[in-house]
Amino acid sequence: MTFCSCACTFNPKQWYPRKEDDKSVACTGLPDTGFGMLPRDSSDLVAVSTSIPHVRVPRGIRAIQAAADGLVALGTALEAMPKRRELSFSARVGSCYRHHSTDSKDECGYVLKGNYMISKSTTPEKQAYWREKANPMNLGLAWPGRTPHSGGYACDVILVDRDGRDCFDWRAGVPDAPRCSIDAKAAVELLNEAMTTAGALRLTYEAWHYEWGPGASGCSHPDCAKHGWPITGKPGNKP
Ligand SMILES: [Zn+2]
Repeated sequence: MTFCSCACTFNPKQWYPRKEDDKSVACTGLPDTGFGMLPRDSSDLVAVSTSIPHVRVPRGIRAIQAAADGLVALGTALEAMPKRRELSFSARVGSCYRHHSTDSKDECGYVLKGNYMISKSTTPEKQAYWREKANPMNLGLAWPGRTPHSGGYACDVILVDRDGRDCFDWRAGVPDAPRCSIDAKAAVELLNEAMTTAGALRLTYEAWHYEWGPGASGCSHPDCAKHGWPITGKPGNKP
């Protein structure tokens, strides 16, 4: 909250439900650079190859060299997997580097709107409702500021079945997560196995978030499975 109040302002008169119309949150005070916050023109960022076998990479995806190399290694790992030959799945990169303001503005929006509504709420029930909404963690977001994505060493990667369907998103095994022809738990483990071979660690409570390099933290195959099922996208995923 302190971070958002310092970096951003919230004007309830400009608050509209549609994201395109909503002008209520402005974040002009976000720090431009800092540890784990690479500027957009950082020389540490390289283009991720768009011609990796079995890995679909949209144009314009950038990451630090360790992550870019890791995605190339993912292609090699997938090529060598007997299960991939059997089931014909592939991987799709959703996102790697994102400037920290991309996430922080949305996250601060939830924090500032939630806190405004708490101050306006007349009953404990309403306050509790908005307290829940004011915590970006409850929305599958991080607290604003530095993230592994703003540091360029994280990528969100999804397993895709032979028909091109996503097998999960940041969550897996929960009712509204995407599903494909491969069992969700098996799909998460297949990607985790290939990613571990490619040197990545996975965020324990997200199915798609992987990190490489000195800043990386998380679990590797087969231990990720011990962190619980379903994968809810929220910290404290219980077995
Ligand atoms: Zn991520």
